[in-house]
Amino acid sequence: MDVFSGYMNKLIEELSALPGIGNKTAQRLAFHIMYMPKERAEGLAKSITDAREHVCYCAECCTLTDQELCPICANERRDHKTIMVVENSRDLAAYEKTGKYEGVYHVLHGAISPMLGIGPADIRLKELMKRLEGDVDEVIIATNSSLEGETTAMYISKLVKPTGIKVTRIASGVPVGGDLEYIDEITLLRALEGRTEL
Ligand code: ZN
Repeated sequence: MDVFSGYMNKLIEELSALPGIGNKTAQRLAFHIMYMPKERAEGLAKSITDAREHVCYCAECCTLTDQELCPICANERRDHKTIMVVENSRDLAAYEKTGKYEGVYHVLHGAISPMLGIGPADIRLKELMKRLEGDVDEVIIATNSSLEGETTAMYISKLVKPTGIKVTRIASGVPVGGDLEYIDEITLLRALEGRTEL
């Protein structure tokens, strides 16, 4: 389709490749960007390149940060012997918001999904197992209650059990398929407190 400029087409193509953005929305966004003051469009582009350039994975828990160690891993007052495994940094943020969890985290950046071709090697499991060689008392598995989340939980529990470290799973009061980040803090706390040993 050559109705628009080639530059516009390229922008629409890039935007529509983003999750949840169809071709129509991509067109709407592209026009919105064209009508913006030039400085704002440049600011938007710069915030993308800046974030991409400076944000990296925490050397310990793999969450997104702009330092070698994220503020949670760098905090000596946290209980470094309790590791909560979550699917992504947004889930970590949801638990942090409760202000009640004192342990540290491990961010997998995904979940095992045979249907989507995502295997154990595609998420940050190797890094988790490396951490478990240190002094760890408990691994709390807080992946989502979706099929992928449960598959991942099962897989991790099988990996961790032979190490003798306690493995627990958060209580499943969490709605099936519900993303952790949308669940309110009280439900999250209840799920955490009601965790059971696997
Ligand atoms: Zn960290």
